[in-house]
Amino acid sequence: MPEPESQAVDAARALVRDHVRPRVRDWEREARYPAELAAASGLTGMFVAAERGGLGLGYPEGMRVFDELGRGDAAFAFSLSMHNAVAAAVNAAGSAELVESWGSRLAAGAALGGFSLTEPQAGSDAAAITTRAVADGDGWRLHGRKAWVSLAGVADLFLVACRTGEGGGHGDVAIAAVAREQAGVSFPVIYEKAASSFLPIGEMLLDGAAATMLAPPGSGMRAALAAIDVARCDIAAIACGLHAEALDVALAYARDRHAFGSRVLDFQGIRWQLADVATALEASRLLVRQAAERLGTADGPVAVAHAKRFAPDAALAATITCSEVLGAYGWLHDHPLARFIALAKMLQVVDGTAEIQRLVIARALDRRAQSL
Ligand SMILES: Cc1cc2nc3c(=O)[nH]c(=O)nc-3n(C[C@H](O)[C@H](O)[C@H](O)COP(=O)(O)OP(=O)(O)OC[C@H]3O[C@@H](n4cnc5c(N)ncnc54)[C@H](O)[C@@H]3O)c2cc1C
Repeated sequence: MPEPESQAVDAARALVRDHVRPRVRDWEREARYPAELAAASGLTGMFVAAERGGLGLGYPEGMRVFDELGRGDAAFAFSLSMHNAVAAAVNAAGSAELVESWGSRLAAGAALGGFSLTEPQAGSDAAAITTRAVADGDGWRLHGRKAWVSLAGVADLFLVACRTGEGGGHGDVAIAAVAREQAGVSFPVIYEKAASSFLPIGEMLLDGAAATMLAPPGSGMRAALAAIDVARCDIAAIACGLHAEALDVALAYARDRHAFGSRVLDFQGIRWQLADVATALEASRLLVRQAAERLGTADGPVAVAHAKRFAPDAALAATITCSEVLGAYGWLHDHPLARFIALAKMLQVVDGTAEIQRLVIARALDRRAQSL
């Protein structure tokens, strides 16, 4: 039975059809993030409770929204995933004061959120972060340099992973909320990337910036990992949308293109390749659905790791196959496949690489091995 559609899924589909597909190439050319579109998308408080002004979606429905968004542009979809993680965390775990000043603005899209964990020397190994929080009266001051900060210079509030003591490991990691518009916050480096020039990503320098603690010292890494599990599931869902869009582009092209007196879609070599692309898409969507149902349970992290490992890999293979179906035209920007290949590659890395997902899965296998 097909799942009933929801208003949020319909809204995502309309956003992609009316605003993302027609404009994404202009955003790329102008290298400008469409903040006003993100703000007005109606999808900025997906996992925030309705009484706080959000949509209060369950994770399975939320993942169907991200699947639709992935059909438009995976980098724009990723920015909404990150914003939604921040909006949900502030509203669910913020102090009364933080919720008062930021909660409803984030949910409504009046403010955009960013999440800043990575540092130049600490990527996959998040416990190697060195950004320090120093107590200052009732609040905190942050000192450090963050890397790979998406929505650099654009997001209004960043959740920043930091340390409160000298110890290493997870023991003193906290999550602090930092407003962009203040002394002590700057973005000295914006990266030049392989694609998605409209999404600013770069370094954030924290030089005594005022901050409010969201997750207190010691619980920061757990809080970050819980938020990242939802984000990883979002990314797997976005990969499904990207995969589905690549397949549709290839199908429409192969239906209309002729060679040797027949439709390209009639060649068995092409049909079988597209059949495999379709099977992989089914498998990705089933893994995402299962992960979404298990989020928040003890089985969540491993289910999410399976989906995050598989779906972007499958999407990358699909975009390469679908580009081949278009022959030389797959390489032109008249069709989106060259962009999709770069985006699928990005989805493999963001919110934890495929290797890190394998580590999570292998750790669970080890526990199982001990119990045999
Ligand atoms: C487009 C984009 C946007 C991003 N946005 C954000 C953001 O907004 N906020 C943020 O905090 N971060 C962001 N990141 C950073 C991202 O989360 C990191 O790039 C990612 O965690 C990997 O870290 P790294 O690139 O430093 O790789 P490294 O950790 O240096 O790894 C290098 C290679 O070694 C592999 N590897 C590492 N450890 C192991 C291991 N134990 N076993 C096997 N293989 C291993 C990795 O998989 C990778 O292939 C973004 C990244 C991208 C590409």
